[in-house]
Amino acid sequence: MEQTFIMIKPDGVQRGLVGEIIGRFEKKGFSLKGLKFLTVDQAFAEKHYADLSSKPFFNGLVEYIISGPVVAMVWEGKNVVTTGRKIIGATNPAESAPGTIRGDFAIDIGRNVIHGSDAVESARKEIGLWFPEGTANWSSSLNPWIYE
Ligand code: UDP
Ligand code: MG
Repeated sequence: MEQTFIMIKPDGVQRGLVGEIIGRFEKKGFSLKGLKFLTVDQAFAEKHYADLSSKPFFNGLVEYIISGPVVAMVWEGKNVVTTGRKIIGATNPAESAPGTIRGDFAIDIGRNVIHGSDAVESARKEIGLWFPEGTANWSSSLNPWIYE
């Protein structure tokens, strides 16, 4: 089953959106496979966002991500990478549709509340970086009511 890496960024934690965000993924029917609450250092944040290191916003982005604790999660389900990105909404909250997390809870691109892997391959890399110890091995007894 496909997995994705989802992170509630420091602004999402500070603004009390942790329960709301987890609830949206849970109610959709996806399964939580890993979860931790931690503050990462600069080197770790730079590694997570290595693909963006040449961007003008890179230093500000790293400062943002290390500015407080984050909620790191692994979610599992059919098409969870693509569907997770739809639940999250467009990168710039000015363009995120209402009903998406960023559309409902964010205004500025540099305070857009949540991260989600953009492809199955980046999900695999990000899960390896954030959960080197591995994730939980369980499957929901509700799956027969979620998948046909
Ligand atoms: N970002 C920013 N300014 C920009 C583009 C991106 O501050 O012009 C930040 C924003 O927080 C975004 C993160 O950098 O979520 C990673 O950018 P990416 O293009 O990967 O967007 P995402 O995958 O998070 O939608
Ligand atoms: Mg991205």
